[in-house]
Amino acid sequence: MNIAAKAVNVVEEAAAILSKLGVAEQLYKGGDMPSYSPVTGQEIARLKTVSAAEAAAKIEAADKAFRAWRNVPAPKRGELIRLLGEELRAAKADLGRLVSIEAGKITSEGLGEVQEMIDICDFAVGLSRQLYGLTIATERPGHRMMETWHPLGVVGIITAFNFPVAVWSWNTALALVCGNAVVWKPSEKTPLTALASQAILERAIARFGEVPEGLSQVLIGDRAIGEVMVDNPKVPLVSATGSTRMGREVGPRLAKRFARSILELGGNNAGIVCPSADLDMALRAVAFGAMGTAGQRCTTLRRLFVHESVYDTLVPRLKKAYASVSVGNPLETSALVGPLIDKPAFDNMQKALTEAKAQGGTVTGGERVEAGQATAYYVKPALVEMPKQQGPVVEETFAPILYVMKYTDFDAVIAEHNAVGAGLSSSIFTLDMREAETFLSSEGSDCGIANVNIGTSGAEIGGAFGGEKETGGGRESGSDAWKAYMRRATNTVNYSKALPLAQGVSFDI
Ligand code: NAD
Repeated sequence: MNIAAKAVNVVEEAAAILSKLGVAEQLYKGGDMPSYSPVTGQEIARLKTVSAAEAAAKIEAADKAFRAWRNVPAPKRGELIRLLGEELRAAKADLGRLVSIEAGKITSEGLGEVQEMIDICDFAVGLSRQLYGLTIATERPGHRMMETWHPLGVVGIITAFNFPVAVWSWNTALALVCGNAVVWKPSEKTPLTALASQAILERAIARFGEVPEGLSQVLIGDRAIGEVMVDNPKVPLVSATGSTRMGREVGPRLAKRFARSILELGGNNAGIVCPSADLDMALRAVAFGAMGTAGQRCTTLRRLFVHESVYDTLVPRLKKAYASVSVGNPLETSALVGPLIDKPAFDNMQKALTEAKAQGGTVTGGERVEAGQATAYYVKPALVEMPKQQGPVVEETFAPILYVMKYTDFDAVIAEHNAVGAGLSSSIFTLDMREAETFLSSEGSDCGIANVNIGTSGAEIGGAFGGEKETGGGRESGSDAWKAYMRRATNTVNYSKALPLAQGVSFDI
């Protein structure tokens, strides 16, 4: 842990970035909601929260904006997102740094998150000329049947602390191109990066000109403000990213009023290392997947099944990697593992490790690392060898804990792999084509993301992102995820002089 450090004042630096990006001081000074930096544990700002009435007024304004924006041609809407991509490129260093300050990500991951925002903008600009439906053969002569995709309305966005800005951009870039307005309830743990992202979008809006007032709104507040948005009938779609607990509350509330949801919830992702695996590759992929972002990614690798024939080769090497990984202040050092978000995250990790030990687990690492401040929570990532999949292994603990288990039989390990509530990401390491293809087949991984010879985390924006079962079933980002942000109309046009009815029904009057 001997990493060179220089002192950084997170309070001053956060304020300087916000001011540079044009965020008004009264939005983050003297308010009622503190924001902390996990890097030092210090309070870095006090934000003004919105009341329920103010939230409703913002949603109303967004709804009004939607009614004008939906009539702007889609490729023109794409121009706004092209400008947003340009503004993000210009602000990449500042926003990336603010992500590191507020979410505790190491520098390359803070910057990587902003790059992901830029990537989705590029994707959405192209998409703005591809929002097309099908033309379908009809059984009636002189008729044409087709589908049209229309904007939906106000899209509510709820985000988690661990991807404080990228998830907003996945939703916003697509929603705006699709002709919707957006209202964003960011995590109460990372509200500053939300204000910064909104300021960057406002720069793009100013350059675009003639954007209806209120097209993009931010609601600063805790989960109660999220609930206000979830219950508002002017919000036809809520895209909510966070824990499965949150999804269990939000999902039924939306269903009750027949609103749509995109639920992006917790993961308990696994990897399988087979006898033929390239172990050097598996080692690197496992290390990044399990320890990267201090285990605070929804796609973090949490369970590893290793075939008994390679267990004694791979696991000692993994333990070595765990022992040598650098943990430290992400702003001042070149550490690969930054802090946990807060004390509750640290307590949850310790609780899971205690339970794992009680169930026969052997723990390597997991202890707290002093990185200067008593109010910051840095930990050594933990590798836990478990006799079987039980206890804390079947739940997501949002911390760097990797449970490692030995397996013998391929079919049995696939069953174990799928025997948890979450269904987000998965990977297999094998050079055996039968194993790889079986894993990807309908009888293989039951997750929304299934990979071969790469880890569970670090998705690209081109694919649809999301998972099954307790992960919520939503899809965001690439592929045809845009369809969730629009409503589909099936249109049948009769250009004949007759009125034939479908299915041969006759109704002559
Ligand atoms: P969290 O569930 O505590 O909070 C997420 C967001 O939901 C916050 O903005 C919070 O204010 C809001 N919220 C909570 N309860 C709500 C309610 N009843 N009504 C409306 N809004 C409510 O999650 P977190 O600790 O910020 O993030 C970590 C979790 O998010 C992990 O479980 C992780 O796996 C998950 N996550 C999932 C994805 C994905 O794409 N599947 C991505 C990132 C994070």
